[in-house]
Amino acid sequence: MHKRAHGQITVIDGKQGIEMVKFKDPFEKLERENERKRAMRRPLVAGNWKMNKVLTAVLEFALDLKKRIADVSDVEVLICPPFPFLGPLSRSLEDSTVKVGAQDVYWEENGAFTGSVSAQMLDSVGCSYVIVGHSERRHIFGDSSEEVNKKTGAVLASYMIPIVCVGEKLEEREEMRTEEVLREQITHSLAGFNSQEALKCVIAYEPVWAIGTGKTATAHQANDAHGFIRELLRELFNGEVCDRMRILYGGSVKPENVAELMREPDIDGVLVGGASLTVDSFEKLIRYKEAVAPETQ
Ligand code: PEP
Repeated sequence: MHKRAHGQITVIDGKQGIEMVKFKDPFEKLERENERKRAMRRPLVAGNWKMNKVLTAVLEFALDLKKRIADVSDVEVLICPPFPFLGPLSRSLEDSTVKVGAQDVYWEENGAFTGSVSAQMLDSVGCSYVIVGHSERRHIFGDSSEEVNKKTGAVLASYMIPIVCVGEKLEEREEMRTEEVLREQITHSLAGFNSQEALKCVIAYEPVWAIGTGKTATAHQANDAHGFIRELLRELFNGEVCDRMRILYGGSVKPENVAELMREPDIDGVLVGGASLTVDSFEKLIRYKEAVAPETQ
């Protein structure tokens, strides 16, 4: 018998040759298991620029950002600019690890669909992620979960990663319908995919009442919703999808609250609108691990 790091005690059963690990504290085992699962999910900090910037500003941003975060390797960084900037931005970020994604897609491959952009087109200009079902698409442009499902399928078919956005409106939260709404949106958006396909997706939980309003869900509110989504993934797919799929939080994330959110065990990254628009604040989000707790500042 010998003592291992972190208080584990290994016992070797000579007769049967079975190795058991005993934990001094029953909660320690659970915590360790959660840490192990979390380590499989690489943190993702994604900027959704919505309908902002012109080309010169996009290129200046890229030049500045890649210099500033050249030393960052433990966080995946993604920028989702408007369609016209996808090609130029991915070219200017070629010598960096920053990835480029689109804010929407149409599910058909090509044809008479004026104004639409296909997944193949996005792939051909260097996109590796595509946001689907953002609440502004759902509520301003009327995207339904069935359409989000077709868009997700098109993104997967072009070997890119869909970021499937879900979230309740304020009145739905007040009516205690958050879980019902999340269940409906996720079940329909991921309908027909097998667990291997689901593993290639990212979910973004973005409560509609928190997007662009300055009101952030508390870290606990967000983590509760993420926990619910994770268990739903177990029910719809399996334990592997539940443990491995990354779930991002979005809704008024800023340098002042990102560290607290990222400390929660089921929050694997953030999808950020307003605070991703300046290099200063985006860099702080990416460096959330270096943030000093407010009380010690
Ligand atoms: C978003 O655009 O997905 C978003 C969360 O915006 P904001 O960070 O500005 O609330």
